[in-house]
Amino acid sequence: MDIFILVYWAALAAEIVIRYPLQKKWKAAKKVEQRVSRTERTLLSLLWVVMFVLPLIYSLTNWLDFADYRLPAWLGWLGVVLMAGALLVFARAHIDLKANWSPSLEIFEGHTLVKSGIYGYIRHPMYASQWLWVLAQIFLIQNWLAGPVDLLLFIPFYILRVREEEKMMVDTFGEEYRQYRQATGGVWPKSWKR
Ligand code: SAH
Repeated sequence: MDIFILVYWAALAAEIVIRYPLQKKWKAAKKVEQRVSRTERTLLSLLWVVMFVLPLIYSLTNWLDFADYRLPAWLGWLGVVLMAGALLVFARAHIDLKANWSPSLEIFEGHTLVKSGIYGYIRHPMYASQWLWVLAQIFLIQNWLAGPVDLLLFIPFYILRVREEEKMMVDTFGEEYRQYRQATGGVWPKSWKR
């Protein structure tokens, strides 16, 4: 297996470890609101397939070899750099969001609006991290099916998710969220000052 594929699997393992404590808290948390549409659920399952199942098939078998492409080595290393960025942002977002994290769109008992740490700059650091991930995947997994399809699926997911999430946050936190939205960027900071 080449080094870039190993980096991909190491990154996936790192994300599972980083998320594990919040995943445990999330399971036990009392949910007061859930907004999970069927479209979103379908897209999430497909994203899991292109992030995990297809790379696994690609790594363990030669079934997908017909769809391989080859990039110059420096692009593989660019993938490593993007992936490192994805993990840093991912870790920081988990540290700051704490038990307010959910895999879908949910409000918990005692939910607080986090506006500090990385959330003081951008509202969607976890999705920013996923953008970096899907870009890195194109360079690390050089196969049309196991690589770039993640980016293609993430685009509609991102658009839908952010629209629904921000609606839910406005319904829950009202003016406080509107002001927070005014002051911050989505996945790229509006200003580097705070
Ligand atoms: N969009 C954020 C959070 C993703 S997790 C990011 O990309 O980092 C999704 C859950 O986070 C939703 O259920 C929502 O209730 C919660 N959430 C999103 N932004 C939040 C914030 N600023 N403070 C508290 N909870 C938030």
